[in-house]
Amino acid sequence: MLITISQLIIGSVDLIAAFLLMFGLWRMASPVTAPSGILVAGVGMLAAVVASFLYVFTVDAVAKPHLPLNIGLAAAALIIGAGVAWWCGRKVAITAMPQAVALFNGMGGGAAGAIAAVELFGSQTHGVGPLVVTLLGALIGSISLSGSVIAWAKLDALLKKPLHVPGLQIFNGVVLLACLMVGAYIVFAAVGGAAPVLTMPHLIEIFFGIALLYGILMTLPIGGADMPVVISVYNAFTGLAVGLEGFVLQNPALMIAGMLVGAAGLLLTLLMAKAMNRSVAKILFASFGPGKKRKQGAIKGSLKPVQASDAGIFMRYAKSVIIVPGYGLAVSQGQGKLYDFVKLLQAAGVSVKFAIHPVAGRMPGQMDVLLAEAGVPYDLIVQLADVNEEFKDADVALVIGANDVVNPEARTDKTSPIYGMPILNADQAKKCYVVKRGDGKGYAGIVNPLFYADNTFMVYGDAAAVCVSMTEAVRGLGAPAAAA
Ligand code: NDP
Repeated sequence: MLITISQLIIGSVDLIAAFLLMFGLWRMASPVTAPSGILVAGVGMLAAVVASFLYVFTVDAVAKPHLPLNIGLAAAALIIGAGVAWWCGRKVAITAMPQAVALFNGMGGGAAGAIAAVELFGSQTHGVGPLVVTLLGALIGSISLSGSVIAWAKLDALLKKPLHVPGLQIFNGVVLLACLMVGAYIVFAAVGGAAPVLTMPHLIEIFFGIALLYGILMTLPIGGADMPVVISVYNAFTGLAVGLEGFVLQNPALMIAGMLVGAAGLLLTLLMAKAMNRSVAKILFASFGPGKKRKQGAIKGSLKPVQASDAGIFMRYAKSVIIVPGYGLAVSQGQGKLYDFVKLLQAAGVSVKFAIHPVAGRMPGQMDVLLAEAGVPYDLIVQLADVNEEFKDADVALVIGANDVVNPEARTDKTSPIYGMPILNADQAKKCYVVKRGDGKGYAGIVNPLFYADNTFMVYGDAAAVCVSMTEAVRGLGAPAAAA
């Protein structure tokens, strides 16, 4: 009777956790409701953790003596994990968030792999189905762990160049095949009765080793502009691995949370792939970017520096301005100062919009969050597909801390690492101002011909400082006339 009640309580708490996770995820769909969505999902996670501890009431007599040690270990892991996460959450700069996301995602994959390892080394899984699911979770979780670590190193510029070795993709295929064959052998040997899983620790170690190696090899050739898609692929992998291990443990909260993360990651992957004009198959199996060293063609035109005050005053008398924010705006934390400038333009009757590229910055949605932080109303923020046609009628495109997302080379140069990525049509505006500190390149590491175009003028300086100068210059003109 006690067990039945315990199971009922655990099931209910699991169900509440799953509902909160789904509700939280749903609220994360908009920047307005996202903060509360994160909070709700956090409470859901807490409920799932509580449910895990409630399992102590269902253990059988044989396992009871191990309870104090196991609870102690789980509590210690929780305290260490929560402490590290708390410290990271406070310490990591907004611009370093993608690296942090990659690492945390890798840990999710690693956790799924660890569950599988406990099941396999402890010979807890019996029958073809559970064994195959456990091994599949182990494979996907391990790939996600080692792949995410490489993605973190690339985003953190610890690994600078993508690895291009002829035949690497074929070699990778062989490595994956080897891993699958070892897994298949473990299943056949265990199910055929030749040897229980417990007696094959070395094979299990080899299986994990090859899976981890495959994650590294799969990520090394990926470079530059494709990294956001890769992170979201690993996000989907982690979710799937966690869901599979949840199935093995028959833990509903783990299954639902894993599948939610997996599905969200998959959807994000599809959206990002579409935004960057790459097929998902290419993302997973092709070597990205140009294979050979590429010499960028000669660029016509010259860089034409202007003062921030002149640019500000020109925009004050324009009819329409479209602003393209990018990674540099996040670096300078100039979003508030930019919005101060925008408010002045609006007061003078200028129509202003923010054009958002799906991979601007270093995280999907980073620009939306940045502008939301500054209090920019959502009706001023327009996504690429909805705004691109408007550039040709705009008086000014103000490119601020952005580079790759406005590089016209993506349209024409087949050898470019960003070829095929849709870009914001800033080059089609009547005049283009580009705010950046110097001749620094964007994430893809290429020179941008837009900066040399006849109608483009460079405003050199930190984005926040330039916004202050532009604001001061426009304020210096005095209040707009009533009719203006
Ligand atoms: P880019 O990285 O292309 O360019 C940023 C520009 O900002 C640089 O040219 C730099 O030039 C300038 N900059 C840096 N700091 C400042 C500052 N303080 N003030 C003013 N300017 C500054 O950014 P984009 O947003 O255009 O493009 C994003 C790129 O990142 C794409 O290639 C995308 O694929 C990639 N990426 C995107 C991810 C995502 O999910 N969004 C994740 C990972 C990568 P200078 O040094 O001269 O100032």
